[in-house]
Amino acid sequence: MATLSILNHDRKIFDKKYIYPVLSRRAGGLSLGINLNTNNACNWQCIYCEIPNLTRGKPESIDTKLLKEELFFWLHEITQNNFLSNHAPPDTLLKDIAFSGNGEPTAAKEFEEVINIVITAINEFKLNNLITIRLITNGSYMSDQSVQNAWSLINQTPKEVWFKIDSVDNDDIKMINQINPSLNATKKNIESCLDVSPTIIQTCVIKINGELPSKKSIDQYISFLKNYEKKLKGIHLYSLARPTEQKITTKIERLTEKELQSVADKISVLNLPISTYI
Ligand code: SF4
Repeated sequence: MATLSILNHDRKIFDKKYIYPVLSRRAGGLSLGINLNTNNACNWQCIYCEIPNLTRGKPESIDTKLLKEELFFWLHEITQNNFLSNHAPPDTLLKDIAFSGNGEPTAAKEFEEVINIVITAINEFKLNNLITIRLITNGSYMSDQSVQNAWSLINQTPKEVWFKIDSVDNDDIKMINQINPSLNATKKNIESCLDVSPTIIQTCVIKINGELPSKKSIDQYISFLKNYEKKLKGIHLYSLARPTEQKITTKIERLTEKELQSVADKISVLNLPISTYI
């Protein structure tokens, strides 16, 4: 078996279809990921996306029996076998079970069923107060009643949504996320998310054709998030960890630590904890 590293997020490293362990800096330890997008399909097409052969679309149907078997296999390996001591740095702990796939997880029609499987597994392995259930999402389905209902089912285990907002500027959104921007839709989705879950904004900051985000773009971002300052848990700012897998003509680059910090300093007028990851 391979050894885990924060640089290797290959979901196939341990040869399972849906469930994969990774070391996550942002989770602060081992994260057991759930990939509901085995066909590499997403409704967004971010220019920095690290998913190879990304296509626009929804997940294919999920074999929930197999997913459950894989989840139980991994939880057994991690909590009752020597997986962590054999494959992770000393003192690594399981921190979360995270919906983090090769596309948007909430687009899966089996999302609620999978949440029920996760809840069952957490109860079975007595992990209720030891880990968090996380959803890493572009947020675009958060106001759907089915997603609301599904996420509300988690009430005995800490939960958290990492909600992607790279920018609220229309031109930026078209360029970076390659979707038709709608601030009203983003508002509805973030408000729905805050109704059912502790929420952190995750923002990927990149240099586009050598330029950092403009003052206008940062000012719009601040004024949008100002509305939700009291309810949000914080902001994760990060830049490219690995090269994009998308075929793009635009030149995109990772920020230096100093550049990312300069963006963090600008948005620090928001009364929110800001963490940077480079
Ligand atoms: S939302 Fe996530 S998975 Fe979808 S294209 Fe953007 S980065 Fe890739």
